[in-house]
Amino acid sequence: MIQFDQVTKRYPGGNEALKNLSFAIDSGEMVFLAGHSGAGKSTLLKLIAGIERATSGGVLVNGQNLSKLRPSQLPYVRQHIGLVFQDHKILFDRPVFDNVMLPLNIIGFDRRDAAKRVRAALDKVGLLGKEKAMPIHLSGGEQQRLCIARAVVHRPSILLADEPSANLDRAYALDIMELFKSFHQVGVTVVISAHDETLMEDYGRRIIRLREGQFAA
Ligand code: ADP
Ligand code: ADP
Repeated sequence: MIQFDQVTKRYPGGNEALKNLSFAIDSGEMVFLAGHSGAGKSTLLKLIAGIERATSGGVLVNGQNLSKLRPSQLPYVRQHIGLVFQDHKILFDRPVFDNVMLPLNIIGFDRRDAAKRVRAALDKVGLLGKEKAMPIHLSGGEQQRLCIARAVVHRPSILLADEPSANLDRAYALDIMELFKSFHQVGVTVVISAHDETLMEDYGRRIIRLREGQFAA
């Protein structure tokens, strides 16, 4: 489902963020990505999402080699991916419901079905009662759950989360992990990065550890 074949990513300026990495993630697997800041976690997730391109090597997602895809084909790959990334900001000028609706508007989803989908996604993350609330009135944990609802509203087969628990207290962070587990349990492939490995230990899942763009022991 996700396969890296000797992937190197060098950013303009010569910084090698990933060095000759090969690995695979099975369909439906839940995998953690660990490593200190700068280890290459975000870069790895961005390559899977097609946000960045490998400098060399192959990145296969759902059988498509992203390194060879024309830019015009990328949106089709993206439709199967949900992203919980720090730079995907909540829009604070509109209510919770509209924030989650946004991705469906972009892909031109039928309006009536879309509203149903939005409510299903909010229900899933425990925010159904807050659909009319403005995001500013949500707690940090609730805002993160809003981001997750927005990431899954189009029912992606792959869910990528870049340090989703970074700014949360431990109890909230564990709630978020449980939520990701619930998506894994319905068959979604889930890849979550974190620098705090203690959050991952209870799950008995594979942990891919990165250090300076390579696998760490
Ligand atoms: P992590 O997510 O583990 O903190 P990143 O993937 O963000 O790691 O970064 C890996 C390395 O690539 C770091 O040395 C970082 O400075 C560098 N890097 C990340 N993004 C860019 C960029 N857009 N341009 C240049 N260097 C970058
Ligand atoms: P419904 O019949 O309610 O429209 P489905 O039968 O398609 O929903 O899905 C069953 C349940 O699994 C729903 O609660 C749905 O939200 C959830 N689900 C299925 N796939 C995904 C996904 N990729 N991401 C999030 N939730 C999903």
